[in-house]
Amino acid sequence: MDKEKRIVIKVGTAVLTGTSGVINEGVIKKLVESTVKLLESGCQIIIVTSGAIGAGMGRIKLYGHSLRHKQALASIGQLHLMNIYDKYFSRHKRLVAQVLLTKDDLDNHSRCINAKHTMETLLKSGVVPIVNENDTVAVDELPKDKKFGDNDILSAEVALKFDADMLIILTDVEGFCTIDPRFGKEVKLIKEVRAITGDLEKCAGRAGSQRGTGGMISKLQAMKMATSKGIVAYIANGRKKDVLLKILEGKSAGTKFLPRGKKSR
Ligand code: GLU
Repeated sequence: MDKEKRIVIKVGTAVLTGTSGVINEGVIKKLVESTVKLLESGCQIIIVTSGAIGAGMGRIKLYGHSLRHKQALASIGQLHLMNIYDKYFSRHKRLVAQVLLTKDDLDNHSRCINAKHTMETLLKSGVVPIVNENDTVAVDELPKDKKFGDNDILSAEVALKFDADMLIILTDVEGFCTIDPRFGKEVKLIKEVRAITGDLEKCAGRAGSQRGTGGMISKLQAMKMATSKGIVAYIANGRKKDVLLKILEGKSAGTKFLPRGKKSR
């Protein structure tokens, strides 16, 4: 396994909640176990997690589907989500830190520098930063460029701004397929992507879990952002056993997107 890699791992709502809508602690437990193995092998890990709204839905019945309901659910669920991560990481004597970000934070020079300093300090201290969008203030009504839109794009931004070597987006399908595996029978997993072409973008479709917001289009966009700046990127099934370890051991898992641009470090 490659040593001293900085890896951003994004975990989608669909991985964390399945069809029930309630957070599946077993998934987080396994994710934590794999993450700890990567930490022990010398990697630095930043987790970008969704699931705050899903976790909130499991805690309280808030009737309504408006933005403010979702924001309220996220603020209830975020605490619950972090408690679960903390519970399983502390079994391995690892500390976690909550990092809530908005697009504005990373676009603003001095706020971004502050976030970078915080992140570097956490990583050097062996703490696992767990990032989510600050849903309370990141609202849909703002112009599109003011919000990440979903955590796929947030995870790519985090990988770029915090100098990651690798981005892994974990979802509930095998990887990038020629048609969306949830809706078709003729599914073909693409194991390696050298260039994100228009044809590939057409393949992405618009499907996604009802609890997540991304779908394949935003995952592909995240892959494009990362690989164009020299970061190797993956889309893989977060429910598959040892998927993270397989990726790091260079074994076949999910879809690998080869870096195109040069890293600016
Ligand atoms: N920040 C949202 C949450 O934690 C998730 C956004 C997304 O699904 O990508 O629920």
